Amino acid sequence: MGKTCFTFEDFCDDLGPIKIVHLYEPSCGLRGMVVIDNVACGPAIGGVRMVPDVSTREVFRLARAMTLKNAAAGLPHGGGKAGIVADPHTSDKARLIRAFARAIRDLVEYIPGPDMGTDETCMGWMYDEIKRAVGLPRVLGGIPLDEIGATGFGLAECAEVGAPACRLSLNGAAVAIEGFGNVGRHAARFLEEKGARLVAASDRKGTIYDPAGIPVAALVEAKEASGSVVGYAKGQRLGQADIFGLSCDILIPAARPDCIHKDNVETIQAKLILQGANIPATPEAETRLYQRGILTIPDFIANAGGVICASVEYHGGNEGQAFQNISQNIRRNTQEVLTRSLNEGIEPRRAAVELAGERVRHAMSFRGCQ
Ligand code: NAD
Repeated sequence: MGKTCFTFEDFCDDLGPIKIVHLYEPSCGLRGMVVIDNVACGPAIGGVRMVPDVSTREVFRLARAMTLKNAAAGLPHGGGKAGIVADPHTSDKARLIRAFARAIRDLVEYIPGPDMGTDETCMGWMYDEIKRAVGLPRVLGGIPLDEIGATGFGLAECAEVGAPACRLSLNGAAVAIEGFGNVGRHAARFLEEKGARLVAASDRKGTIYDPAGIPVAALVEAKEASGSVVGYAKGQRLGQADIFGLSCDILIPAARPDCIHKDNVETIQAKLILQGANIPATPEAETRLYQRGILTIPDFIANAGGVICASVEYHGGNEGQAFQNISQNIRRNTQEVLTRSLNEGIEPRRAAVELAGERVRHAMSFRGCQ
């Protein structure tokens, strides 16, 4: 990792990041990075992403999203994020995660949580090493946010506030979900409870599409049995990227960054996009969606359910309080962003960044940072 060199101009602005740390432990092959973006509101909470192609730039963008997300949600936490450059299915996972935890022992302004490639078990190993992690297994006092579907629940709450703004009723609305994992499948479940109809879902192996509707429990079962949504017996099997052009009312990207980009943005037919994944659209594509009259609720407003749950856990609360906080926070913030966007004639992301930035700068003013 030592060969990679960055200048301050590559990353820094008036918010951060305050630390970019590269981690390298030759004895066990650990390669990773931690970006602590801003701690004005409190110690930074953010997930640990374990994928073979994670980069420092991606981790920085995600850390900034956490600063804004935690501030927007009114949490007493700043933003940070970490990456481990490795296959999440490696047989050496426990050793790598434990080595990562030891490597961040002294970075006390950073509290790790789960993200792509890491889960409650990984957080349990980290807690064992350094007594600092959120998203812990229930047996260690945690509220297992992926098991209960904290982020998916928040997305469904967000949809209920966003839908009327694009003259949609959730009752009967057609939903397409890119990435049927912890975020995507629970979003589908909670939206189905509100009367919406899942018409498409994708994962690494492809897309399943049935305009007549796909019962969520049946799709979960098919994915568990076959390893993919394309194992579902009915509907059409399509390529992974085809999901973005399908006819639907609500599109939820819930997998990788930048999956909505200049080459597919014109094909999108949804009226409402809820960003389940972090940074799922390029900035140019997001602007283009706004120009096309498609309402996009930005990631750090729509998908804050997981970190709100993690914060409730960290401060000793229970599952019921987590669901209540998620609902209140996400509904209030979605409404505030929509109102500001409409009143000022600006993109929802700009409205959200302004809202969260004001809160971070206010917190920074108490620390003599400005
Ligand atoms: P996950 O690993 O549980 O699920 C990811 C899903 O996406 C899997 O089904 C995988 O097969 C699929 N996938 C991977 N690459 C794909 C591709 N190119 N096309 C279509 N599908 C693909 O991860 P998760 O926890 O659901 O997280 C998904 C995203 O949401 C990530 O960006 C994560 O940072 C973000 N997020 C997660 C949470 C949370 O609470 N878990 C909270 C906020 C944001």
